[in-house]
Amino acid sequence: MEMAEAFLSNGIETTLLHRSELPMSRLERDTRQAAKDALVCHGVTFVPMSIVRELRADSTGKICEVVANTGSCKTDLVVIAIGVKPNTGLARGVGIRESSHGGILTDQRQVTGIDTIFAAGDCCAVKNLVNNKWMYIPLATTASKQGWVAGENAAGGSAVFKGVIRALAVKVFDLEIAQVGLSSKEAEDTGFSVVTESITGNSKIGFMPGNARVHVTLVADKKSERVLGANVYGENGAVLRANTLGVAIQQKLTIDELAQLDLIYSPPFAPLWDPILIAANQTNKRLRSTLR
Ligand SMILES: Cc1cc2nc3c(=O)[nH]c(=O)nc-3n(C[C@H](O)[C@H](O)[C@H](O)COP(=O)(O)OP(=O)(O)OC[C@H]3O[C@@H](n4cnc5c(N)ncnc54)[C@H](O)[C@@H]3O)c2cc1C
Repeated sequence: MEMAEAFLSNGIETTLLHRSELPMSRLERDTRQAAKDALVCHGVTFVPMSIVRELRADSTGKICEVVANTGSCKTDLVVIAIGVKPNTGLARGVGIRESSHGGILTDQRQVTGIDTIFAAGDCCAVKNLVNNKWMYIPLATTASKQGWVAGENAAGGSAVFKGVIRALAVKVFDLEIAQVGLSSKEAEDTGFSVVTESITGNSKIGFMPGNARVHVTLVADKKSERVLGANVYGENGAVLRANTLGVAIQQKLTIDELAQLDLIYSPPFAPLWDPILIAANQTNKRLRSTLR
């Protein structure tokens, strides 16, 4: 999606073929719809439910056409963005264990099953601290901490890396999108019974220059009332609000504790009722109504 923005900004007509109805399958539906709307309203042709069957080349060997189940498309350039898989053949060759989701398994010191071999980064699985499951989350935020710990321990130290909640962001033209923690589907798939609520608030006091709408979706566990995940989208700094929610998730705050956070109110920076607090209060209400 970021490449689509780069192409469009350089006057290049861009078509995005996607195998789902909406982009970014791990996000909540309204966030995915917002991402698609941002693409389309800036001029990207979005083709949903599209499975690419063939890339055709001209007589010089240059790609000239993409053939999909939804039709074909003449092109000068193709960017393939279909995710990544760790290449762990080297480790597997010496009997090092891997997660069923992909990636080398290590302990908290980044030691593999062989105690003289350390692993870190995109070749590794990582423990998700929200549901305590191994996942494959290839991000620089994870790789850099694992690398630090592996390096320190290889030099005789005793550093520990416990895991991640998964915190990521993407920019689609003017729209900032962030996800922290589990999606509602991931939470349900790992045994949580969830309640999900979405709100839209202001990033600053309404009359301040630069005020923008911020959309927050919270996912909470009905039983423990813990915050499990969140999506945030909007313009002008929406993404950085997700870091507060990430801390709440990592520290296992309940939705009520999130609603009680003493967040800044100051007209140029934030409204009295920050979108995070509004989202927490609305999720709390929904939680109470489902428990009745
Ligand atoms: C387009 C793009 C955007 C991204 N944006 C973000 C972002 O915004 N935020 C974020 O957190 N993450 C982002 N990531 C993910 C992030 O880049 C990776 O998670 C991170 O770089 C992983 O670090 P690493 O050291 O494990 O692997 P790498 O950075 O891939 O480094 C591995 C190195 O090992 C070398 N190598 C491979 N095989 C061998 C071999 N046999 N012998 C010697 N050397 C070898 C490779 O050449 C490479 O230099 C992005 C990734 C991509 C592709």
